[in-house]
Amino acid sequence: MRMILLGPPGAGKGTQAAVLSATLKIPHISTGDIFRANIKGGTPLGLLAKSYIDSGKLVPDDVTVDIVANRLKEEDCASGFIMDGFPRTVPQAVMFDEMLAKPGKKVEVVINITVEDSIIVKRLSGRRMCSCGRTYHIDNNPPKVEEICDFCNSSLYIRDDDKEETIKERLKTYHEQTSPLVDYYQEKGLIMNFDGSKPIDVTTREILDSLKNKLIDFED
Ligand SMILES: [Zn+2]
Repeated sequence: MRMILLGPPGAGKGTQAAVLSATLKIPHISTGDIFRANIKGGTPLGLLAKSYIDSGKLVPDDVTVDIVANRLKEEDCASGFIMDGFPRTVPQAVMFDEMLAKPGKKVEVVINITVEDSIIVKRLSGRRMCSCGRTYHIDNNPPKVEEICDFCNSSLYIRDDDKEETIKERLKTYHEQTSPLVDYYQEKGLIMNFDGSKPIDVTTREILDSLKNKLIDFED
């Protein structure tokens, strides 16, 4: 099954992707990971991408699409993939469709995990880290003494990414980019919406149940 996973930061997308990948036996393709691997490996595309990133520019769509195309040529993608982090924009989605159409393929389902912004802010801004590597959450996994690590007694801190203002900024960017993308796939009848504010395993079950019904259509 060729699948795209959409969801804001803090929606539990990584966990869902891991379970779906194991259950459906198709690779989880995180474009963030591919970029890092290409840059680390010094591939021509990696070097090209790096030149944009280093000068503070966005990597152009055609470079991103080429990097994805190379990954999809690998054998493990023969029976499908779970795409995470791509496409991010409608032009990328159009290029992706064109790329898949060459060998007569297409995106079959787009899983859209939605969570209200206020819930995401609460989830992410409650995270606390310790320099010893342990992590806490003020609601779900609090330390015994407020703001102090249970193991090493150090003061806990908030990652820059988890600061409320940063989260709100990331969510704003996400919504701006993703709304047109959701519309694009909605018009193609590919969107399946799931409520990501439920416990992660409940959402996983709902996704798998819905896919089971859809899978019957894909037996080709
Ligand atoms: Zn500690």
